Amino acid sequence: TERRSVLGENLLTIVTIIGVIGGTVFGLILKNSNREWTQREIMYIQYPGDLFLRMLKCLIVPLIVSSITSAIGALDLSLSKRIAIRSIVYYFTTTVCAVILGIILVNIIRPGDGNDALKNKSGPKVTRDVLTADTLLDLVRNLFPPNIVQATMFQYRTHLEPPENAEAVIKNVPLERFKINGQWREGMNVLGLVMFSVVLGATIGKMREKGKPIQDFLVALSEAMMIITRWVIWLSPIGVFFLITAKILEMESLIQVIGNLGLYFLTVVLGLTLHGFGTIAVIFTLIVRKLPFPYVMKMSQVLATAFGTGSSSATMPITINCLDHMGIDPRVTRFVIPVGATINMDGTALYEAVAAIFIAQLHGMSLTFGKIVGVSVTATAASIGAAGIPQAGLITMVMVLDTVGLPAEDVTLIIAVDWLLDRFRTTINVMCDALGTIIVDHLSKGELYRPSLNYEDGEPHE
Ligand code: ASP
Repeated sequence: TERRSVLGENLLTIVTIIGVIGGTVFGLILKNSNREWTQREIMYIQYPGDLFLRMLKCLIVPLIVSSITSAIGALDLSLSKRIAIRSIVYYFTTTVCAVILGIILVNIIRPGDGNDALKNKSGPKVTRDVLTADTLLDLVRNLFPPNIVQATMFQYRTHLEPPENAEAVIKNVPLERFKINGQWREGMNVLGLVMFSVVLGATIGKMREKGKPIQDFLVALSEAMMIITRWVIWLSPIGVFFLITAKILEMESLIQVIGNLGLYFLTVVLGLTLHGFGTIAVIFTLIVRKLPFPYVMKMSQVLATAFGTGSSSATMPITINCLDHMGIDPRVTRFVIPVGATINMDGTALYEAVAAIFIAQLHGMSLTFGKIVGVSVTATAASIGAAGIPQAGLITMVMVLDTVGLPAEDVTLIIAVDWLLDRFRTTINVMCDALGTIIVDHLSKGELYRPSLNYEDGEPHE
């Protein structure tokens, strides 16, 4: 049966990749079939994909709460702290590397140069009310959800009203979910749930015998969620296929993606590739003393899902399942992945920096060193603040544009290619989280004894 399941998984991976390619090809064929596709028809085509997405999303809340709580409950407190510190150092270092790489590339390639149409024609300067500080305050505010049930529904934006023109800007994004109107409608407050689960888990661990019933219950629940995840994964080829087909039908003609925009697109994709397969690969090899590529190969299922859904959060159950299969300590995975899916977005950080400077170049603006430092800081903050849902980065982009002194409407200049770039950056976001988990696991070896979640007699045992 062991061999059978390995075979089955390899087959599934291959079929999922075929789903990505097939969805693209099928989408292009339908698109070029001399026929207008109505919104309704596209909705029908997307329907199976939507069902797949909904199933994945449905798993997130019970999966994170039960698995983080039981994982932390099984660790001693000082070890949880060390795992947390290692992950946060990893998140931060890699995000900063990504931003710097993006800034270097966009200044060498200069995709926005040579466009006279926009030169010196900055639109009316709109003063926005959403500042970097607000986004950071929001992030911390989200750590402490006032109501844990509500935290599973949406992420609060409590501080201020949205920027005046946010609605107008956002309307062009083909995602109605993105009403900035005071709240994020879709998505959930993952950080708040993580915080709650960590505190609950630590307390249960401290309670020892008395906490054992809850611990047992949560271990069983998290195992059940993983079993359901494995069922849902079988739908990923179909889900990914239809999500991509529908997206391609929806997109505008690619003709306009030549010239500046095309070069911008290539700059981001080049940056993402260099970051994922250069920077991260080097960090990984230095620490783990093994090449990351065999691990990346084993993750293809995860990467294909990230590309198909454009959402780190939705991909989370599949990522956790994959790392479990690789033998990574579940207690590490259950901390690094949910937190990473929310705040560690290397791909998004790189894109934010490149996009803001690209738009400045389109306007013929030259940026001072101080401004560039400002871009790096806000791009980092914007990636931390972006939720793990499709095109969240485009929304937090407004913050980076503000640093450069550009109006929020300017995001419309990059919207045509954003849905596709979103998929590439999500793939890199997810890959860097998964490789980071392996790094943290490696660093924590010796301190962990495994398998960990086996609690038959009150003690973790082999
Ligand atoms: N879609 C990305 C993610 O889920 C976030 C973004 O860059 O828009 O990771």
